[in-house]
Amino acid sequence: MHRDFTSYLSHPVFKVIKKYLEDNEGSAFVIGGFVRDLLLEKKSKDIDIVVYGDGLEFAKNVAEILRVKKVSVFKNFGTAHFRYKDVDVEFVTARKESYSKDSRNPKVSPGSLKDDQYRRDFTINALAINLHPSSFGELIDPFNGETDIENGTIRTPLDPSETFSDDPLRMLRAIRFASQLDFKIDISCLKSIRDQSERIKIISRERITDEINKILMSPCPSRGFKLLKSTGLLEYIFPELLELSGIETINGKSHKDNFLHTLQVVDNVSKTSDKLWLRWSALLHDIAKPPTKRFDKKIGWTFHGHEELGSKMVPRIFKYHRLPLDAKMKYVQKLVRLHLRPIALVKGSVTDTAIRRLLNEAGEDVEDLMLLCNADITSKNEFKVKRYQENFKLVSEKLQAVEEKDKIRNFQPPVKGEEIMKSFNLGPCYEVGVIKSKIKEAILEGEIPNSYDDAKALMLTIGREMGLEIKESLN
Ligand code: ATP
Ligand code: MG
Repeated sequence: MHRDFTSYLSHPVFKVIKKYLEDNEGSAFVIGGFVRDLLLEKKSKDIDIVVYGDGLEFAKNVAEILRVKKVSVFKNFGTAHFRYKDVDVEFVTARKESYSKDSRNPKVSPGSLKDDQYRRDFTINALAINLHPSSFGELIDPFNGETDIENGTIRTPLDPSETFSDDPLRMLRAIRFASQLDFKIDISCLKSIRDQSERIKIISRERITDEINKILMSPCPSRGFKLLKSTGLLEYIFPELLELSGIETINGKSHKDNFLHTLQVVDNVSKTSDKLWLRWSALLHDIAKPPTKRFDKKIGWTFHGHEELGSKMVPRIFKYHRLPLDAKMKYVQKLVRLHLRPIALVKGSVTDTAIRRLLNEAGEDVEDLMLLCNADITSKNEFKVKRYQENFKLVSEKLQAVEEKDKIRNFQPPVKGEEIMKSFNLGPCYEVGVIKSKIKEAILEGEIPNSYDDAKALMLTIGREMGLEIKESLN
């Protein structure tokens, strides 16, 4: 008995394909992620269609009926793509694939739907629904993908060693889906990934990073990263993270496992924010702990300067992973560099000056920094966590109060360089910089309020002390 999915196929693309097949020869099926997401009751952003015959011609005809003007055709891959409203629609001619050992690029020849389903990575991604008017809405599920969705299992249609060897990226995709959907990976798949994890080396960095980002954006990213470690993939795709793993003990003193701690922080921050770059900051916040680790006989383990060194490591890591080397990277660097600052306030006494300095350095990102810092409070001792979090709330409140009073967040000293130069008949020179920074310091230290009049008065006082000539109208 086939189940009927007609009611789910209300999208205009499906209606047009059905109509087209009423008047023309051929067959077409919606396949892959769309069908999986439909069974999971999730919204899908793309529609993949497998076509018998000439998929490219088919795509053009369907696009014409939908009045879509731009169709991109990739002749070499036998695929065509267009965008209809907010949905990406991709057409592919049903095909068979055969792979050679050292490449991801297969030899392709025409095939049946079943052949096409065999070349899919997982049973949950191999489901198809018929779009032909004679069997519209019929689910075609040769590998029991529907049961695997119900049981939450990632399994390959073929022998896993073959599936993963053909395209090692699938090893990462398996882990990414397990993390995104909270599914388990079938034991023989897991074993196979462990056996050939090294083959991930032939995959491009961009594709690997796409999967890392998807793991990071899943509800509980630690699941994906733990699987990356246990399968051996982490060693090849993110060695710095693996370095964080492990506990060392000297004279009965141990430090915590910084890999597990980092993952806990990533999970914590993921509960409060969907920002990818905040999650990256959490992932990298302690990345320099291994190179800064020391043992001191009196105080035990220390990681002095790991926030500074970590921040310096960020550009190299971003470059390696082909991540953007722009403001996003600067944001991650800033959060890594400042991640200890709010907690230092929590542990010590909180002066307005310390708060103003933090606001000045964190600027617009102070809320994100606070989220990261709050997420960083992990301890086996629940009492300790609770006490820190309570103190943390106090610091947050204080931050708000000081910001309201002093407006430091986007702080530009209220007297500009231009005005300093004019006031003392100076060109751009060393003295201007000195006066500017003295005014800024005085505001941050709370010696004068953050206002134009106070800053200008201070400027004149400093100028006098420096023996500068003051413009007549100001005297
Ligand atoms: P998402 O869109 O959330 O990343 P998806 O499963 O839709 O997930 P796509 O990359 O859009 O992933 O691929 C669409 C379909 O193409 C998949 O469902 C799967 O059937 C197939 N597919 C994609 N990548 C591979 C691969 N590396 N090996 C085999 N089949 C693949
Ligand atoms: Mg997709």
